[in-house]
Amino acid sequence: MEEKVKSELKKIFGFSQFRGNQEPIVDNLLKDRNTFVIMPTGAGKSLCYQLPAVVSEGTAIVISPLIALMKNQVDQLNAIGVNAHFLNSTLTKSESNRVKSEVLAGKTKLLYVAPESLTKEDNIEFLKSAKISFVAIDEAHCISEWGHDFRPEYRKIKSIVAQIAPELPIIALTATATPKVQQDIQRNLHMESADLFKSSFNRTNLFYEVRAKVKNETKKQLIKFIKSHKGKSGIIYCLSRKKVEEIADLLRVNQINAAPYHAGLEPSVRMKNQDDFLNEEVDVIVATIAFGMGIDKPDVRYVIHYDVPKSLEGYYQETGRAGRDGLEGHCLMFYRYEDIIKLDKFNKDKAVTERENAKILLQEMAAYAETGVCRRKFILNYFGETLEEDCGYCDNCKRERETFEGMEPLQTVLEA
Ligand code: ADP
Ligand code: MG
Repeated sequence: MEEKVKSELKKIFGFSQFRGNQEPIVDNLLKDRNTFVIMPTGAGKSLCYQLPAVVSEGTAIVISPLIALMKNQVDQLNAIGVNAHFLNSTLTKSESNRVKSEVLAGKTKLLYVAPESLTKEDNIEFLKSAKISFVAIDEAHCISEWGHDFRPEYRKIKSIVAQIAPELPIIALTATATPKVQQDIQRNLHMESADLFKSSFNRTNLFYEVRAKVKNETKKQLIKFIKSHKGKSGIIYCLSRKKVEEIADLLRVNQINAAPYHAGLEPSVRMKNQDDFLNEEVDVIVATIAFGMGIDKPDVRYVIHYDVPKSLEGYYQETGRAGRDGLEGHCLMFYRYEDIIKLDKFNKDKAVTERENAKILLQEMAAYAETGVCRRKFILNYFGETLEEDCGYCDNCKRERETFEGMEPLQTVLEA
């Protein structure tokens, strides 16, 4: 890699070194090769296209699904002196015209585009006339129905890119590592021969545990667990808004400093509760899965699933919010098969294939919860990775050792 690229890493982004696979990825893209990046959340995917964009001639198109995050990224880039803009439905006609003229003047290094805007005829015409360096497809799992956030518009990207310029290099990035999603992405983008950079998804500092969910008993266990982590930050995920409220109340009655978070709360209340959690005014946030996107609190010490999640993929993403600082993170799930059945019933009005897909994801989730093998092995295997040895750091690994070493009767082991 040219020295210039490395010096821009420090000069513009302020990083003294590349992390993980960033260097070979940047290098690969700068050689105009199609590049497929699979890296866990927080690993630093944005830099893999932002740095090449800055050092390349022309404008890089970045396709990103979330309007809020798009604005955030553009603001951050502008703040470090990189000329970046976005095109999405929040802009007025005259604002988007201004963005377009900046791009045509050759000043813009990165243009973030919402998939809905990319498919608009006049935007396609405009992009044809601009000098484009490459196309980055962030959150590329949105292409796949097996991903956790399917966006039909994402499936049109490839044909539009082909209209803009057939030979444009593409970099696709995602934190979703299941082989099914990976295949879908590669097929849909005609990227079967792209160079693949896949990082390990093993989070060695996370302890995985599943306990049987038993009426009355589980609430007591929950309170006991939280009290044994007094003053530490934790997240509790529940399936419904009602459950979130109920558990938050339960914790508060038991002198635990907890706050609820779900989409049904007034935006101002929701925001305050989130801020209180981030600023440590509140120890525990009880939330639906609406909580967590883009949240980067490094010292979350535990994530509890009071209800079983809809997929192992979702479980991995949610538990991944624990121990971001590399220190202890305890991931505890309460499980009973009835919850799987309940989730399946929620899908009854969906189209047949969609429901079938959801059912398979749920079955995989149940298999994880009920497995006797090393949990980390199970999770990594789901992501197409092999762990040679048992991890020794999950309930199943610990339990096995206890039985062997202590010769405890099986009953006490099962109760643990
Ligand atoms: P992802 O998209 O993979 O979830 P981001 O691109 O949002 O991750 O990056 C996560 C964090 O890592 C950001 O705070 C970013 O500034 C930081 N980061 C990225 N690359 C580096 C690096 N080479 N050195 C230090 N910090 C980095
Ligand atoms: Mg990202």
